Amino acid sequence: MLTFRMIKSLTQCLRGYRRSGLRVGFVPTMGFLHAGHRALIDESVARCDITVVSIFVNPTQFGPNEDLDRYPRALEQDHDLCRKAGVSMIFMPDAGEIYPPGFQTHVEPGPVAEPLCGAVRPGHFQGVATVVAKLFNIVQPDVAFFGQKDFQQCAVIRQMVRDLNLPVEIVTVPTVREPDGLAMSSRNSYLNPVDRERAGCLSRGLLAAQAAYGEGEQDSQRLLEIARSHITEVDQLQYLELRDARTLAAVQGLVEQPAALCVAATVGPTRLIDNVLLTPPPRALSDRELELVSHVMDRQASPAAEGPRPS
Ligand code: AMP
Repeated sequence: MLTFRMIKSLTQCLRGYRRSGLRVGFVPTMGFLHAGHRALIDESVARCDITVVSIFVNPTQFGPNEDLDRYPRALEQDHDLCRKAGVSMIFMPDAGEIYPPGFQTHVEPGPVAEPLCGAVRPGHFQGVATVVAKLFNIVQPDVAFFGQKDFQQCAVIRQMVRDLNLPVEIVTVPTVREPDGLAMSSRNSYLNPVDRERAGCLSRGLLAAQAAYGEGEQDSQRLLEIARSHITEVDQLQYLELRDARTLAAVQGLVEQPAALCVAATVGPTRLIDNVLLTPPPRALSDRELELVSHVMDRQASPAAEGPRPS
C-alpha cells in the first residue's frame, strides 16, 4: 500500500496503472475510519483492480461554528484498516495542497442541496461538491463509492456527475449500523455513554416507520408520526422529513415512489444524521395485465398456434 501527500506523485503513479487498463475505484473519506467506511472499501476492492482511499478533513464543508478543529483523527488505525482491506493507495493531502493560495473556483449545487442538511448547514454542499469534483479530477476513478448514510450527499454528487458529464460511475453502499441500530459515524466518538444510549432513538424511529411501511402504511403523515414517537431523547430535532429518493422533493400524501425518511438531530453537543429508504414493493398485476401476460407466454410457448407466418 502506497501513501501519497502530494497530487503530483499520486497522479504520476495512477497514470501508469490506468495505462495498463486497470480499473480504479475511489473512496473519499475524512478519516477516523470505521466499519461503514470499510464497507465502501470492500465494495471497491471487490469491483476494481486498484482502490484509492482519500483521507482529507475538508475545511470548506464545515461552517464557522462547527467541529472542524476537533474532528477526530487516527491516522495509524486508518492505515491499518486500509492495509488489511486491500487498499492500493491512500491519498492524504494537507489543506494547502487542495486549496493553494489564490484558490477561488467552486462548484455550486442546485436545488437538490437546498433542503435538509443544506438548509441547516449553509455552504456545506458547495464545499462537498467542490472537493469531490477536485478529487475526481485528481484520481480520475472509473467508480467512486459513497455511503447511503449521507443520503443527500449522494444525491448532490450524482446530480453533479450528470450535470457536469464527469466520467465516473457512482455506487451507493447501504448504511452500516451498530448492534442497536445507530448508524456508524466518526462523530459517534463524541458521544458520552448517556448520549450514546439516547442516540439509539434515531434509528429506532426510522426503522419503526420503515417496518410500518413494509406492513402497508403508506400515509406520509402517519409514517412521520410513527418515527417521531420514538425520537424522544434528542436535544434538538433539526429535521425529520420524507423526501423523494431521487429528486429530494418533499413527499406529501401517499408514499408511492421510492422515498427517503431523513433525520438530523443533536444529542448533547453532537449532531447526528440518519435515513432509511422506503421502496414500494413490486405492484401486483391487475386481472387484465395477467391475462395479457399469459396470452404472450402462450404465444411464445407455441408459435404455431398463431397460424402460418406470411412468407
Ligand atoms: P466521512 O468520512 O464521514 O466523510 O464518510 C466518508 C464516506 O463514508 C461517505 O461516503 C459516507 O457516506 C460513508 N459512510 C460514513 N458512515 C457510513 C456508514 N455508517 N455506513 C456506510 N457508509 C458510511
